[in-house]
Amino acid sequence: MTELVTYEPLDEGRIARIWLNRPEVHNAQSRTLLIQLDEAFVRAEADDAVRVVILAARGRNFSAGHDMGSDEALAERTAGPGQHPSFTDHGATRAGRVEAVYLQEWHYYFENTCRWRNLRKITIAQVQGNAISAGLMLIWACDLIVAADNARFSDVVAVRLGMPGVEYYGHPWEFGPRKAKELLLTGDSLDADEAYRLGMVSKVFPVDELEAKTLQFARRIAERPTIAALLVKDSVNAATDAMGFAEALRHGFHIHQLGHAHWSALNDDKHPCGKPPDVEDWRTAQATQLARRDSP
Ligand code: ZN
Repeated sequence: MTELVTYEPLDEGRIARIWLNRPEVHNAQSRTLLIQLDEAFVRAEADDAVRVVILAARGRNFSAGHDMGSDEALAERTAGPGQHPSFTDHGATRAGRVEAVYLQEWHYYFENTCRWRNLRKITIAQVQGNAISAGLMLIWACDLIVAADNARFSDVVAVRLGMPGVEYYGHPWEFGPRKAKELLLTGDSLDADEAYRLGMVSKVFPVDELEAKTLQFARRIAERPTIAALLVKDSVNAATDAMGFAEALRHGFHIHQLGHAHWSALNDDKHPCGKPPDVEDWRTAQATQLARRDSP
């Protein structure tokens, strides 16, 4: 089977580096990739030697988001020999389109991302190039985010699909409420320095030093006693949960499903997202613009 995610033990297994390995389509997240990513996180979690997990990506871009239309993505969701088994369970066979979308997205977009966020190891996302829409979900699930100086962060789901944003609704927490609204309503992207200024990103390195410096950073974290690292993570996550993060996330997911239900009811073919002319066509969309303070 194609390895869309690879697993690389480093430093006698103290650090596990997980690679998104689908650079030819900018690490677009097919179901196969997401299941393999989950398996890699589970492997890192199970291995007592592993202290820190780096989530990295091959190629120029971290991730273009969910795979909307590659031949592989169409094959894995269509009945036949190429169908991924996860398209025959977890709600996929329900007759109601809304129920099927709700259950499939719960298991394969939302609940898995929450599980990665609560992994019993410290996780660091290593981001270069674009992290678009569901690309953000992967990095937001990590404890720390390190960016190359060419990194760009955006969620184009509102402008291209008529939806509130991705399923794991971290935007208000990561960008701040007003910036979240601005970025979602415009589809504009944030550069690495602005993400650093907002506190979403911990480090910004030149792109050709990203891999080496992220590893140095991971080695510092790996020196902490494992219990201290885990308790730091859990204390901070518990604080954000007490501030409403976990409940807001669940609420955001259900609003997202309202969006799918709206489009599913409106579209003749029950397609659960907006289509042109209501939204710009994602197949022919231009690259995102950088959000700038002096440009409308
Ligand atoms: Zn969705």
